[in-house]
This record gives sequence, structure tokens and C-alpha cells, in this order.
Amino acid sequence: MKVIDLHCDALLKLSLKGETLSFVDSDDLHTNKRRLLAGEVKIQFFAIFIKPDIPQHEKFMSVLQQIELFHTKVLAPNPEMVHITDWSQLNSLEENQIGAVLSLEGADAIGEDLGKLHAILDAGIKLVGLTWNQANAIADGADVNSNRGLTQFGREVVQVLNDRDILIDVSHLSEKSFWDVLENGKHVIASHSNAKSLCDHPRNLTDAQATALVNKGGHIHLVYYPPFIRNDKEQVTIEDLMQHFVHLANLVGVQHLGLGSDFDGISIFIKDLENASHTQNIVNGLKRHFSEEEVHGIAENNFMEYIKKVSAKF
Ligand SMILES: [Zn+2]
Repeated sequence: MKVIDLHCDALLKLSLKGETLSFVDSDDLHTNKRRLLAGEVKIQFFAIFIKPDIPQHEKFMSVLQQIELFHTKVLAPNPEMVHITDWSQLNSLEENQIGAVLSLEGADAIGEDLGKLHAILDAGIKLVGLTWNQANAIADGADVNSNRGLTQFGREVVQVLNDRDILIDVSHLSEKSFWDVLENGKHVIASHSNAKSLCDHPRNLTDAQATALVNKGGHIHLVYYPPFIRNDKEQVTIEDLMQHFVHLANLVGVQHLGLGSDFDGISIFIKDLENASHTQNIVNGLKRHFSEEEVHGIAENNFMEYIKKVSAKF
């Protein structure tokens, strides 16, 4: 079954390990072309993530470097990989093609410069998370326990994203930032988060957040990272993740859920879900709890419906 995955960090890994890795088949990449094909991943989002320890004045250049790696390592050697710069391309992918969507995970690199934001968006980025886990000039991230939320500059950033119909990712925001973004953002989505009522972690969404997000037209893509699934056992299973799907489906409706693996950004794994080639194992897990049509929805169709509505708002 075809799958859309809203989050991986292969570009970070390519930037760290550089020349030695091939996107075609390096085993060090959880997300490489061979594994995407084996896992039937039809559309893969590639996050640009700049590690917090990079000095501020080097961050913008690091973003440009990851965009360059996307072109030289992911696209150029692999004609089957298609850069999605317009959502209408999702409907015209051929059987052997894989759609590649660029996203930005944390916008620290723009500092307080909207010109830099526009320059990054011009590279074809379709989804932006405002923060990673820390605070920046825009908002506070998930690890920040404060009531600051979205700053004045952050409101200007959200306005730019709204004007350009960019999806705004709430997965790494603090709770106050989440509510501010939900109020001000046009296309708001969670690309890789689970249910806080089942696993109390700052990266997960409370039931109130999940409900409000979906009421605003948003979707929730669930993440495969064990610490966001269960914090009381050593080896987390696909069935443990299924409990998050079942809970959120009961809460907000299964038609608003999807997948966001976080491959290449994680170093511990669910059993039998250790790289993109194992993606059909999650499809099989979903089939134990949901109808064939509902599983198709989570895997692919829910996001396609979401994007249809986003595009209609353009
Ligand atoms: Zn993340």
C-alpha cells in the first residue's frame, strides 16, 4: 500500500556524514531510495534541520547546504525522485516515481530577517516548523516551559507563511506557541507527534490540542519514536503505537491521521520498524484495528484530501 511520510531527517545525516553516503542505497540512511521503494513510500518529506549547537551566524548557510545536498544527493542521481514544488504534482506522479517534499524543521536560521525566510521558501519548501525544541526569535519550542508563545516577529513570520500558503508544523512547539499558531496560522498540521494522554512527553499533543487542531482543519501525523509512544517499557512495539492511532481516531476521527516516521532523526526504534523499508509493517499493524479504507486513508488518502482543501483555499 502506498504511503506518505511527513517527516525524515535524511538531509541532516547527509550533511553530517557528507561525501561518504549515497542516497541510492547507503545502509547508514534509514531513508534511502532502495528503502523507500521497498517500503512503498510514494511521497517523502525531507526536513532541513540545523542542530542547535551550530553558531547563529552559520545557520543560514547550513540551510543552503542542506538544500544543495537535496539537489546533488537526492534528486540529481535519481531521476525517479521528483521535487514537489506545487501540490498538483502529487496527482501526476508516475508508477516508478517518488515525490520529495522539502520542509524546514525550526526556523532559527532566519534570525529576525524575513528576507532570509523568503529566500528559503523560494527553494521550494512547502512545510515549516517554527522552532525545534528550544526558543528562537519566533516562538518557544517544546522543551521551553514558559508563557511566551509566538513573538511579534513570529506573528510576521506566520503572516508570510499564510500569504504563501505554506503548511505550518506545530510538532515541536511549546503549548503556548501551539495555541498562538493555531489562532494565527492558515494551514496548521502536526507532522510527527503522538497523544500525550497515552505518553506524557512535551513533544506529544494533549487531547485538547489534538481536538482544536482538527477542528481548525489540521491533521495529525503520528511518529515512530519509542519515547513518544511509551515511557514505561524497554522495547516498544508496533501495537503500542497502534494504541495512539486508536485513541486519536476515537478523539478526532481516523480521517485526520497520517504518518511521520522521523527516520534518520532517531536512534532507537520500534521493533520491526527500523527504516523506511519496514513501512508496510505499520500498514499491517493498522489493518488489525481499522478497515482497509481507513488504513488507505492513514497511509495516503487523508493527506491527499487535506492538500485538496489547502489547494482550494489558494
Ligand atoms: Zn523532529
